[in-house]
Amino acid sequence: MIADHIQQLRKIIPANVSLLAVSKFHPPELIMEAYRAGQRLFGENRSRELLEKIQLLPNDIQWHFIGHLQTNKVKDIVGRVVLIQSVDSVKLLNSIQKQAQKSGIVQDVLLQIYIAREETKQGFLPEEIRDINPSNLPNVNICGLMGMATFTEDKEKVRSEFRQLRKLFDTLKEDTYSAYPYFIHCSMGMTGDFPIALEEGSTMVRIGSAIFPPRPQK
Ligand SMILES: *Cc1c(COP(=O)(O)O)cnc(C)c1O
Repeated sequence: MIADHIQQLRKIIPANVSLLAVSKFHPPELIMEAYRAGQRLFGENRSRELLEKIQLLPNDIQWHFIGHLQTNKVKDIVGRVVLIQSVDSVKLLNSIQKQAQKSGIVQDVLLQIYIAREETKQGFLPEEIRDINPSNLPNVNICGLMGMATFTEDKEKVRSEFRQLRKLFDTLKEDTYSAYPYFIHCSMGMTGDFPIALEEGSTMVRIGSAIFPPRPQK
C-alpha cells in the first residue's frame, strides 16, 4: 500500500523535485514500510515525537522538521535534522544560530513564508525577509523558502499563492542570496495541492495523506 503510493508519486513528481514523506503521528512500522520502498526523506512536526523516532529508526533517514519550533526546543532539534523547514521568526533564527555555534555545526534551514491569508498559518511576511542578513548567521545555511497555501477548493487562489512564493524565491536568489549557492529550495505543495505547486516551480513537495493511511487522532 504505502510502497505503491510512493511509487505512484515518484512517477508524477519530476526527478529534480524532492519528495518529503510527512510521517507525523504515524508509528515507526509504517515509516519502515516507506523506508523499504526506498524513501529516505521524512518530515515531522513535533520535537518529542521526532526524537523518539530518530532513536527507533535507521540512521540513514534524512529527517526534516516542518512544524512550529519553540525556542526552548531548539537545542533538541539542531544537529539532529538535515533541514528545519519551518523557521518563522528572527528570534527562532537567532536561537538556531546560537545553538549551532555552540555545537560547532552549520544547520540548514528554510524560511517559512506566510502566503495564505489564514489565521492558522505561520511564517514571515514577504517584506520581513529583507531584514534578514545571511552574513550575520555563520552557523545557519538559509537554503530557501517554504510555504503553505490556503486550504481551499479555489485552485486559482492556491496557484496565485504558490506563484507569489516562487517569485519571492527567484528574487531573493538573484539579490540577497546570489552569493549563497545552497539557496535552492522552494518547498511548496502537500497532498491536496502538490500538482499545482509543481506547475508553479516547487523544488520539494511535502506529502503525508497520499502516502500513509489517515493520520490517527492525537
Ligand atoms: C502535515 C503537513 C504536510 C502534509 O500534509 P498532507 O495533506 O497530509 O499531505 C505538509 N506540510 C506541513 C508543514 C505539514 O504540517
